[in-house]
Amino acid sequence: MGGIIKRLEAHVANQIAAGEVVQRPSSALKELLENAVDSGASRIEVFLGDGGKQLIKVVDNGQGIDRDDLPLSIERHATSKLTSADDLFRLQTKGFRGEALASIASIAQLRIQSKTVESEEGYVLTAQGSNSVELLPTSRPQGTIVTVQHLFYNIPARRQFLKSATVELKHCLDEFHRLVLVHPEISFVLHHNSEVLFQLPQAPIKQRITQVFGQKYAEKLVPISEQTPLVGISGFVLKPDMAKKSRGMQYFFVNDRFIKSGFLHHAVLQAFEGLVNPGLHPGYFIYLQVDPARLDVNIHPTKTEVKFDDEQGIYAILRSAVKHSLGQFQVAPILDFDKDPNLDTPYAYQSKNPVYPKIEVDRNFNPFNEQTTTYKSKPSQTQWETLYSIGDDPHRQTMAHFESQQTSLEGWEQETQSALTSFQWEKKYIVTKHQSALLVIHQSRAHQRIVYERLLAQMTMEKAGSQTLLFPLTLGLSIAQQSILASMRGDLQAIGFEFDEQSIDHVVGIPMDVLPQDAAQVLIQLVDDLESIEHTGFSSVDRMAQLMSKTMAINTGKFLTVEEQLGLINDLFSCKEPEFSPDRKPVIVSITAEELLKKFSL
Ligand code: ADP
Ligand code: MG
Repeated sequence: MGGIIKRLEAHVANQIAAGEVVQRPSSALKELLENAVDSGASRIEVFLGDGGKQLIKVVDNGQGIDRDDLPLSIERHATSKLTSADDLFRLQTKGFRGEALASIASIAQLRIQSKTVESEEGYVLTAQGSNSVELLPTSRPQGTIVTVQHLFYNIPARRQFLKSATVELKHCLDEFHRLVLVHPEISFVLHHNSEVLFQLPQAPIKQRITQVFGQKYAEKLVPISEQTPLVGISGFVLKPDMAKKSRGMQYFFVNDRFIKSGFLHHAVLQAFEGLVNPGLHPGYFIYLQVDPARLDVNIHPTKTEVKFDDEQGIYAILRSAVKHSLGQFQVAPILDFDKDPNLDTPYAYQSKNPVYPKIEVDRNFNPFNEQTTTYKSKPSQTQWETLYSIGDDPHRQTMAHFESQQTSLEGWEQETQSALTSFQWEKKYIVTKHQSALLVIHQSRAHQRIVYERLLAQMTMEKAGSQTLLFPLTLGLSIAQQSILASMRGDLQAIGFEFDEQSIDHVVGIPMDVLPQDAAQVLIQLVDDLESIEHTGFSSVDRMAQLMSKTMAINTGKFLTVEEQLGLINDLFSCKEPEFSPDRKPVIVSITAEELLKKFSL
């Protein structure tokens, strides 16, 4: 037959390539940020709308792109950074494939405004779907503004895979952090919707870390430094008492590029051995310099993985450098439950309510790969909820307790099995022990934290099950209240509520762990609370989870059996931030053996 093989149109080829380069707003942001850095800018400002889904705009004061180069910049394999294959081994720039802008233009509305020093005038290029391109003069100062709007507007299937603005923002901030942490010589500002989330003046690296994560880390950063012919190592590790349940603060940079490396991570873990509890993750910001010729950065399209020529050597040097620093600075393992909650949220909105939810997100998440799920469900928590709702059926209690033990953290598991004890005090607190500390847990706040994290997970990552009601509930809300509820419909459905298609005032299904007689109250209270709160526009999901966790959690004054207490403790310590209630009040007060001893020796 013949003639069945055809060349793809450039536009289609670009869309396919875009799949590799741009998975979500954060990947586009990363490319634009890297281009701005490559342009030699000393100041970079980022504007995001709805987690980057609506808008990503990066403004730099770098060298600019001249009139003739503007149309080329969005062509595939067009780059100013590489001319021969040999250059690959001498690269000083972040980009070199010449693919990013072409890819972005094929899947979003792209506008580039730019002016070079040499040129009198600036120019603006507008591209849509990479076939309609327009170039016009414009007046502007030296530098470049790249604006990306409506990512995947022409590929609904991919747009649909984007997560909530909160989750996409989290990914964008991750990329932003990875870049600002290697470029302290550049000042950065990041806006989201109408808020300034980060304002980072030029600073030494240590200060940049605390600018980003909060001042409280200042005295927690232990410097590391090692120079060998094979590798130069600098940076900081966080003291072991700052180890966290989530793997958030772990950064490797190789030749000023963020990378992921299981084996380097392992080297650091080895150095921390015995200093952090199993299940907790030490934090680090480690900068490696190696000869670019001994490194292959190109094995992964998004360039976060590298291959070293001499992995074993680097492993040994890194491990000993970290060990040395930890020893030299005499870092002792202490569990720190008495953190100041006000210092815990580094972002500009730390004092505001609601607080940014710390959701653990899989950075490798790829919506097109079914193998990568993003969130581990915690059956124990649901079970535990059931336990409270159902009340005093002894079989259920044992079962629920058993389940919650199974999913507890390793450390707790051991302790639970070796007869962890607890008792309830004043029908308000649960008293227990952990290692050499006595813990007093605020039962109501603890349960709020558990419910809150579960709701957040359900709203952002996984859909919860729902029980269909035999008799639909009527809430009796006003039209205005119904519209508030309607604006939350998607999130409410994610946690298991189902509404009548005709009227949202009628509830036909409720979450598994809410009792039918409580369901109406949970929703009415939510609407009530939302009516009285001024909309901050930041995260409705977070606010909703916060409010609902209050209504759904057990109260002070509720008697708890020992099994229930242990279940609560277990679930609490499976949380990401067990120390704080959703509105950031302390959940746990700990008294160490030393503190007690001091009191007794007065
Ligand atoms: P790459 O960065 O791999 O070269 P891109 O598609 O990201 O490819 O960019 C293409 C070209 O456009 C770059 O090589 C550079 O010359 C130019 N460019 C892109 N963004 C900027 C910017 N912010 N400032 C100056 N030049 C830029
Ligand atoms: Mg680039």
